[in-house]
Amino acid sequence: MSTQASHPALLIPGPIEFDDAVLQSMSHFSESHVGPTFVNTFGETLGLLRPLFQTTNPASQPFVISGSGTLGWDLVAANLTEAGEDALVLSTGYFGDSFADCLATYGAKPTKLEGPVGGRPQVPEIEKALSEKKYKIVTVTHVDTSTGVVSDLKSIVQAVRKVSPETLVIVDGVCSVACEEIAFDEWDLDGVITAPQKAIGCPAGLSISMFSGRAMEVFKNRKTPPASYFASFKNWTPIMQNYEAKKPSYFATPSPQLVHALNTALKQILARPLSERFQKHKEVSDKVKKAVADLGLKIVATKPEDQSSAMTAIYLPDGVQIANVLPKLASRGVIFAGGLHKEIATKYIRFGHMGVSVTDPARTDIDNALEALKTSLAECGYTKA
Ligand SMILES: *Cc1c(COP(=O)(O)O)cnc(C)c1O
Repeated sequence: MSTQASHPALLIPGPIEFDDAVLQSMSHFSESHVGPTFVNTFGETLGLLRPLFQTTNPASQPFVISGSGTLGWDLVAANLTEAGEDALVLSTGYFGDSFADCLATYGAKPTKLEGPVGGRPQVPEIEKALSEKKYKIVTVTHVDTSTGVVSDLKSIVQAVRKVSPETLVIVDGVCSVACEEIAFDEWDLDGVITAPQKAIGCPAGLSISMFSGRAMEVFKNRKTPPASYFASFKNWTPIMQNYEAKKPSYFATPSPQLVHALNTALKQILARPLSERFQKHKEVSDKVKKAVADLGLKIVATKPEDQSSAMTAIYLPDGVQIANVLPKLASRGVIFAGGLHKEIATKYIRFGHMGVSVTDPARTDIDNALEALKTSLAECGYTKA
């Protein structure tokens, strides 16, 4: 089993549990960020993102930049929108709302389309919105970590291409890349931003993204320069292209240790077919959702087709408080997260089921968590009606 110090299983929607080899990659000796060994590792890592996002189009541009998942929103807002341009934000919770805030920070004009809490906007509404106004970009949160709602990317892109073909489709895949299917080329996506600490299973501290040739053209044709220095494609694109071509290049110092960890995590993920990984996450998620229903509890994402494989947001029974149940879970070695969606935050808890906790057959994290949930709720006085 794991050589890590004994610790409770971290089953929140990121950071998740990390594999030993990934963690050990971070204790790599110090290297120059422009020396040949690190340039090779970074270049290879950028190349590994292409199969992860399922793109073979050479015009697709990967980025790995120090920061967190949030930096991906800044990349999109600063480079792909200009002040006064309209953005359609498909929001299924807290993270969609925050993406809209980020776009507005750079002067874009976000229009939000929301579903009911625990649901998502539907294709006819999206088509209607697109036909009423010219939108520069549509953003969609693939899995909103505040609700566990998954969006149907394929049908969203189809709607956009039908009604407003030039509009860029940008996906927040922070909580979906490496556990939910994303076919970048086949679905004709223009950008997916993510972070390492969720389903990729690598420590936090990086912004990871892929942009289409179409998105890079839109950037090149800007009328105004990007309103960010650190997040500017102008500064980062030549650096990423040089590294991928195994040539040293400098704009701002990357973290070699984190890039080593990402390299290890990506090699582990890509050693098996991605379809197998998505299927495994779906099976475990189905098992969790069934166990939750068997306990008599409700899931925030109401309809089965809206439920992500990454996590489950679970309404607590009446009379059971988050502050009572989380410590009882922790005493059984299980860490869940509290609620995050502003309208229901005090009423539910979040169970992340991604990465090694799902894929490593030697681990019993998920079964332990389901057992701990049952006994902790009983201790809180809950009995199934
Ligand atoms: C976690 C998360 C983010 C933010 O990522 P950070 O690494 O915390 O900055 C953005 N979007 C979604 C969907 C997330 O789950």
